[in-house]
Amino acid sequence: MKISEQTISQLQCAYKSGDTTPSEALKALAESIDTVDGDIGGYLSYDLDLALADAEKADLSKPLGGVPIAIKDLINVSGHPCSCASKILDGKYTAPYDATVIRKLREAGAIPFGRTNMDEFAMGSSNENSGIKPCRNPHDTDRIPGGSSGGSAAVVAANTAFAALGTDTGGSIRQPASLCGVVGVKPSYGRVSRFGLVAFASSLDQCGPMTKSVEDAAKILEVIAGPCERDSTCLDKDVPSYTSVLGKDIKGLKIGLPKEYFAEGLDPAVRAKVEEAIKKLESLGAETVEISLPNTEYAVATYYIIATAEASANLARFDGVRYGHRAEADELIELYEKSRDEGFGAEVKRRIILGTYVLSSGYYEAHYLRAQKVRTLIRKDFEEAFEKVDLIASPVSPTPAFKIGEKKNDPLAMYLADIYTISANLAGICGISVPCGTVAEDGKDLPVGLQLLGKAFGEEDLFRAAHAFEVG
Ligand code: GLN
Repeated sequence: MKISEQTISQLQCAYKSGDTTPSEALKALAESIDTVDGDIGGYLSYDLDLALADAEKADLSKPLGGVPIAIKDLINVSGHPCSCASKILDGKYTAPYDATVIRKLREAGAIPFGRTNMDEFAMGSSNENSGIKPCRNPHDTDRIPGGSSGGSAAVVAANTAFAALGTDTGGSIRQPASLCGVVGVKPSYGRVSRFGLVAFASSLDQCGPMTKSVEDAAKILEVIAGPCERDSTCLDKDVPSYTSVLGKDIKGLKIGLPKEYFAEGLDPAVRAKVEEAIKKLESLGAETVEISLPNTEYAVATYYIIATAEASANLARFDGVRYGHRAEADELIELYEKSRDEGFGAEVKRRIILGTYVLSSGYYEAHYLRAQKVRTLIRKDFEEAFEKVDLIASPVSPTPAFKIGEKKNDPLAMYLADIYTISANLAGICGISVPCGTVAEDGKDLPVGLQLLGKAFGEEDLFRAAHAFEVG
């Protein structure tokens, strides 16, 4: 097996036995990137020299000692570019500090290596909104890798990274993980610090791991989770040892199957794979029961009001004065207008306009305020469900990876495909996508993911069940 094909756990064994070193691992990754990433476009940039300098100092006794981790291009890593895949920041911003997740990774010995492609400012489900370059699915390069953390999923799937960090505001870790056949975890809101992440929708954003195995994801989350004095929404709650629940059986675990998630619109081949996965969970001792999440039908509309509203405020700072591209102009308002017009792509503009509209006087009550109320109902649906069950199982995406260009000009169709992932963000609960097989299309095997959702701060159950499923 090539070094770059290894999981984090395998790489750590190779370090221990002296078979390889962090510098060799980095060089192997760089070689693999140079060979295959041209066709995939998973990376926006990488700096081998900086990483090799970190590798020299790597302390292999630490939990992630000497492990290179690819970073989504909206997470600040001191001295590295951070473009959010937007022309407004590309080449114009170098992070002056480390995000808390990066500080924690470094303290655990990991080496941030490479900036991964994404939808501009994390807005999208296909990576087609990248303002820099397209990203393709390694399983079929005519297809999208998912989004918005499409680059992070693609580099893990293509073995050009051992693992990556992504962010999930409405599914952006789980959906690309599912479509690229890797593991992706969206932690509960408040589990992981958002300090140093470029904000999209602050009440929904969470950062999490994308990996080749459930064990690797547990290892990373264990490191990046926990309180942060620079993020007051990050809860002051101890982090359990997620790796210590791996290997525990799931006998008697109650798993709910939301009837609304297995209804119309779900591709039959995807449904068959997810149902097979549920049978497997049952054979491992889990009990399944049908549940209802009655407000599911309002989730997409609610999300696209709240997320755009928050985005319109968060993106105000990119004005050519405080941050980003500055246009030629004679006076201030013209400077703002031209800088933003030239710097932002079409989807980002669409969302800023939508978000500004739903917050504007006269429309605020009808849209934003109402969406907040529906959000509470959606959260209650989950609270009630979790009184009866320990976990919820469902598909991640209604279809396998679609063709590049297929939905690009139909934003509504793109938004509707987020149906199974966005409620978890609205409710603040945790979720994982774990590979559950492939379906054949056009002679290619396209991955399908099983989604498991857990109650807020219930990540241990997620890891326990996902690991049992993966090894079972
Ligand atoms: N696809 C969703 C959107 O476009 C989710 C994105 C995300 O989670 N960052 O907003």
